[in-house]
Amino acid sequence: MVQASPLLHKIHLYPPYPTPRTSLASQRHPTLFLKLPHSFFDDAMQLILCLSKPAQHLKKNPLMAASGSGSIMWFRKGLRIHDNPALEYASKGSDFVYPVFVIDPHYMEPDPKAFSPGSKLAGLNRIRFLLESLVDLDTSLKKLGSRLLISKGEPGQVLIQCLKEWGVKKLCYEHDTDPYYQALDIKVKEYTSAAGIEVFSPVSHTLFNPADIIQRNGGKPPLTYQSFLKLAGQPSWLSSPLLTSISSLPPVGDVGSCEISEVPTIKDLGYGDIEQEWTPFRGGESEALKRLKESVSDKNWVANFEKPKGNPSLFVKPATTVLSPYLKFGCLSSRYFYQCLQDVYKNVQKHTSPPVSLAGQLLWRDFFYTVAFGTPNFDRMKGNKLCKQIPWNDDDELLAAWREARTGYPWIDAIMVQLRTWGWMHHLARHSVACFLTRGDLFLHWERGRDVFERLLIDSDWAINNGNWLWLSCSSFFYQYNRIYSPISFGKKYDPNGNYIRHFLPVLKDMPKEYIYEPWTAPPGIQRKAKCIIGRDYPKPVVYHDPASKECKRKLAEAYALNQKLNGQLSQEDLDNLRRKAGAR
Ligand code: FAD
Repeated sequence: MVQASPLLHKIHLYPPYPTPRTSLASQRHPTLFLKLPHSFFDDAMQLILCLSKPAQHLKKNPLMAASGSGSIMWFRKGLRIHDNPALEYASKGSDFVYPVFVIDPHYMEPDPKAFSPGSKLAGLNRIRFLLESLVDLDTSLKKLGSRLLISKGEPGQVLIQCLKEWGVKKLCYEHDTDPYYQALDIKVKEYTSAAGIEVFSPVSHTLFNPADIIQRNGGKPPLTYQSFLKLAGQPSWLSSPLLTSISSLPPVGDVGSCEISEVPTIKDLGYGDIEQEWTPFRGGESEALKRLKESVSDKNWVANFEKPKGNPSLFVKPATTVLSPYLKFGCLSSRYFYQCLQDVYKNVQKHTSPPVSLAGQLLWRDFFYTVAFGTPNFDRMKGNKLCKQIPWNDDDELLAAWREARTGYPWIDAIMVQLRTWGWMHHLARHSVACFLTRGDLFLHWERGRDVFERLLIDSDWAINNGNWLWLSCSSFFYQYNRIYSPISFGKKYDPNGNYIRHFLPVLKDMPKEYIYEPWTAPPGIQRKAKCIIGRDYPKPVVYHDPASKECKRKLAEAYALNQKLNGQLSQEDLDNLRRKAGAR
């Protein structure tokens, strides 16, 4: 019997989600989850209010004892305890739960050929962020009587081996719409359906199920934010409170011959002693909840949040939440974030609305997830119906100058240094460098810039990154190619003294503010005094903005006209012809 405490405003059984087939065995450990008001959600890992005892009357039932079984909770993203319906379901009625994370060598092991320290797919900042998130998850699981089982290898193969070895009857993992996981899931499901293993894979990474939205739209993804909002409405789960804490988990069963380890360190992964500036953001659910709490406790800030008004040059206290890396790995539930925002909105007189509000930002996230899920070849120009076909240039030297912060435009280079060292930049800073690389100045392919972001961002997210690169390059969603961010005046508007530049490009720290955005215009005496000779200590501009941006606009006008004439069906030859025409001028 549960004593209702005055702190509690609701007691109910979970899950509130449509529950798949429930076996007799799954009733052996009835778990009662209690919901707390958010004001009491001080330390998510400590607030534990659920009972998890084997019910005596069920324990005696021989039929149930015979059907006792274990389950695997396969962590991929969703590296959290709060609002984790897959974990809840895995623990429901199971004698044992095996919480598994598979280290994929492709994602984690050093690739000496990559342009920055890290693996083939990820920069080291993000790998470290992931390892920190795993350590935090393991610590939380240990507090609940469990632990994280780390295995290594091709994830599909490893998982199938674990399923065989442990003889479990249930496999639970968060649904993932990224193509990589979609392919992986097909492989795993082939095995589970043949082996008669129940799979529970709920949608909890996003506010809505992208497949539902697409279905409601007649099988096609909505292509504007407003049409997405109309179709989506209010999330259905919002009517019942989310489960934000659990008190215990069934124990981990015998792991048999499966090779299991603790969470590795960067060194264990073969990186040796790396000397680099690390991102100031620590990975993990505990840190995510702390950051979220800090953000939502300032009700005034939340109520008045207007994204376009944010200052991209603020770095000591950034203008936005910096919750993206936590949402990326699922250390933070976007649904819980959204619910906390709704709680704030209910308690203030007026607040901003989508698209500019903070809740509106989460809806942008869902918008891109939905379009990405419903669009074949979303991550490339060719074969992507949404993407304008544009004859982008291919120039490795210009690409390297942009990537290595050597464009000669301090605003652009400082942002690229922040990307490399922090793995995070403000949204408008991302706008500036993405526009500069593509339609603004260099006219290089958005896919090249996307690759650099994908590697170096700690919040690198397949749907959002591709969606925003399509947007910024005027390849899709946004088509006003005459509106270009100036690499000089845009940053100056926010930070006339150039503090952001001085911080991330210390070579320019003594440059007078009159020249800091255009140091090549500083007279030689000033350059000497600032100990920064342009062309020696800091590069000259790789292109001059005014003529370069005019040329970009002209090329885009031609490409748009041809896209319209040919209804987007441009061949490689058409693109080559456009490129030749432009080069002949
Ligand atoms: P906040 O303003 O506090 O917003 C809260 C959350 O809303 C974010 O954490 C994020 O999950 C979501 N969000 C905010 N803006 C957007 C947006 N424009 N589109 C979709 N979701 C949004 N964001 C990523 O998470 N991963 C990426 O790989 C990524 N790549 C980008 C590439 C380019 C070229 C551009 C222009 C933007 C990209 N963004 C990406 C979107 C955006 O810049 C970041 O989500 C945001 O800056 C993260 O900071 P924050 O958490 O403080 O955002």
